[in-house]
Amino acid sequence: FYFSAFRTTRSAYSGWWCVALLLFLAGAASFLLDGTPHQVWANPLGNVLLIAGVASVWAAARSLRMLKCNVWLSVAVPGIAGIAAALDNPGSNTWAGGAVFLGSMCLFIGLASRELWQLEPGYSRVRIPTAIAAGGVAVFYVGRLAIFIAEGPAGPTFVTYFGSSVTTLVTMVFLVVGSFSMAELSTEQQTRALQTVAREDGLTGLLNRSAFIELAAAEMDRCRQLDTSGTLILADLDHFKTVNDTFGHAAGDLALQAFADACKETVRSTDLVGRYGGEEFILMIPGVGPRQAETITTEISRRLARYAIPEVLRMPTVSYGLSKFTAGTEDLDELIAAADVALYEAKSQGRNRTVQG
Ligand code: GH3
Ligand code: MG
Ligand code: MG
Repeated sequence: FYFSAFRTTRSAYSGWWCVALLLFLAGAASFLLDGTPHQVWANPLGNVLLIAGVASVWAAARSLRMLKCNVWLSVAVPGIAGIAAALDNPGSNTWAGGAVFLGSMCLFIGLASRELWQLEPGYSRVRIPTAIAAGGVAVFYVGRLAIFIAEGPAGPTFVTYFGSSVTTLVTMVFLVVGSFSMAELSTEQQTRALQTVAREDGLTGLLNRSAFIELAAAEMDRCRQLDTSGTLILADLDHFKTVNDTFGHAAGDLALQAFADACKETVRSTDLVGRYGGEEFILMIPGVGPRQAETITTEISRRLARYAIPEVLRMPTVSYGLSKFTAGTEDLDELIAAADVALYEAKSQGRNRTVQG
């Protein structure tokens, strides 16, 4: 797993699965000492390792949804299970802390299954079989827990249906499904991460130029179909070279980031904001006319001026060129060119203003 999935993709999903498999192996190795004088520590340790293993499976599933590992739950639950086993005569009782162990296994594997169900439908098809396999194991552990509490580990139902041999079989099935899905989900996670990087401007986190053009063209198609109009905004920071020359290039970068933040905070999450290049930015605001767009540019500049960055003693002002598009507008290049003419006009009128194209 380490060499085939993790080394090739470096994805968090395969990384967590490698950790999980290591913990499962170590836990199973601990249980080999059951029946020897060492079981007093080996069995509680085995419980802790196996629970930490399923917690890692849960962390793997969470990573697919860009969520971090829940450290508190992943440490506290195995810890509590270890304490419960240690306090339950582990020297003589093979099933010391059994109920807490079974409940914890059930909890984490159930959470992992839930996480896979919640993945967006566009994610690889293997998420469904994997979620079902994890859900099946969770249900099996609910059964184990219930029978364990009802009749104890020596009871006939527990031994026949929920004992070690059946559990080994169920776990094997789960590991086979898990490992098949691992390769595919790891690759998909890596591909998605690369796609995000390829579309993003590294400094500001906005869309880069090509991603903006692609999404803006699609947005125009949509507006054409819905017969709506909108406004394209081209923004250029004023005398930005002076900012660099006066406060340094690093301070200039901070000012660019501040402007990007001001844009994102002002517009709706569905509007498109991109870095067109250097200190030029581009926004597409569907459903908004030029008047309302001017309110937006005023608000962006107001927010930018309010940013207090010690490195940049005076924030630059901004010039904007607007260009209205309607359902009949065919060409994005022409739309951008029109905004550029308006921006040039704003610069020649003395900067720090918005001009309608
Ligand atoms: P104007 O008001 O006419 O737009 O003047 P200006 O100085 O803003 O325009 P000019 O095109 O002369 O200079 C743009 C400057 O932006 C020059 C360049 O060094 C700087 N710049 C471009 N990209 C970056 C960047 O990523 N970081 C920093 N710090 N500066 C950048
Ligand atoms: Mg410029
Ligand atoms: Mg400029």
